[in-house]
Amino acid sequence: KPTESPRRVAVLGATGSIGRNALSVIEASDGRLQAVALSGHRNFDRLVEQAIRLKPRWVVATDAAAAGRHDWSQLPAGTELLKGPKGLEKVAADAGVDVVLAAIVGSTGLASTLAAIGAKKTVALANKETLVMAGPLVRQALGAAACKGHDELLGGGVARLLPVDSEHSAIFQAMRCGGRDEVERVVLTASGGPFRTWSAESLTQVTVDEALAHPTWNMGPKITIDSATMMNKALEIIEAHWLFDLPADKIEVVIHPQSVVHSMVEYVDGSVMAQLGPPDMRLPIQHALEYPHRRSGPAERLDWTQTHRFEFEPADLDRFPALKLGFECAEAGGTSGAVLNAANESAVEAFLEGDLHFTEIVPACRSILESHTFDSDPTLERLVELDRWARQEVQTWACA
Ligand code: NAD
Ligand code: MG
Repeated sequence: KPTESPRRVAVLGATGSIGRNALSVIEASDGRLQAVALSGHRNFDRLVEQAIRLKPRWVVATDAAAAGRHDWSQLPAGTELLKGPKGLEKVAADAGVDVVLAAIVGSTGLASTLAAIGAKKTVALANKETLVMAGPLVRQALGAAACKGHDELLGGGVARLLPVDSEHSAIFQAMRCGGRDEVERVVLTASGGPFRTWSAESLTQVTVDEALAHPTWNMGPKITIDSATMMNKALEIIEAHWLFDLPADKIEVVIHPQSVVHSMVEYVDGSVMAQLGPPDMRLPIQHALEYPHRRSGPAERLDWTQTHRFEFEPADLDRFPALKLGFECAEAGGTSGAVLNAANESAVEAFLEGDLHFTEIVPACRSILESHTFDSDPTLERLVELDRWARQEVQTWACA
């Protein structure tokens, strides 16, 4: 039985879909994992209810104005309330935190992720947008300790990035079956989303409700729309590029509607290693939080007394042109990820508001990407500036 002291986890984005799944993993860990910080942007009733259950040292309410209007009297006595986004950076870097779970949605998660890396924390990364946006900087900040999947990184004193995204968790696990230079390619699986079988013609008629109904995963709204356009897979191609230091031509995408095979690593000898499990984020979350240990946990299990049929089919880049953008940005690197990510975040918002058609999201992203001034080695200031610029460009598109 392991005797180490509990791992102290800061759950950034605790009120979201990943955050709530993470708390269920932590609560089922018999005290091995301890939630010492919880953050939420606006859903403060839920945040307070979580604080009552988990008794963290800090609660961070990132929307300071809304936090100022909320009644916090029910917070447990030992819990300190921090208002505003700076609280995220404070807890992410605090000596009382071992692991930072980055589960805020979108590029607003960047500052706290960089703060955690700067403070040499283990970062369990769900927030793929920050890696897509600032991949070059994150890699630089991680230095030699980038996500290698090797145990030599254990022991503390170095920052490391452990993937929470189910595909990247699967690759991370399958990477332990061979050497780095023995990897031929990684194969990302994609459910195909709700419109996998729809014709190009009918895609032009997609409504917000149809796009929000994902067939296999229950997730926050932004990533659910991304799954419908397959921009989520595009972001994951770029995420895989930065996480595993893989060129774009070593990354492949295959459609797998059942979402049970979470991704694969193909080695030079032709052997393909896959990781399987029901579509349940508690498993990859637990893997990142408990790494390198495997323990019994709350995630669903595959039932081998039932018949399962697993299908794989090639991805259709014509109906889902987002995928092409993903490969192009993984190849280009530099500022392209930041522009793609910001344009997409803003286009998804516009779609949810009814200001942009479903089939305009990806063309808007492409046009904005192609009109930006590329820089192969950008500073953080440049990325933030481009992020702002790309969002404005989407507004122009939405008004056109
Ligand atoms: P969600 O919308 O359910 O939750 C988002 C969280 O971020 C909430 O806690 C919210 O309060 C917080 N937040 C929102 N705006 C904020 C802001 N401006 N400042 C600070 N905090 C803010 O999203 P989710 O589905 O849990 O996804 C979270 C991240 O994990 C995303 O980057 C997503 O791509 C990634 N991810 C999610 C899943 C999944 O199954 N949900 C799977 C893989 C990766
Ligand atoms: Mg994923």
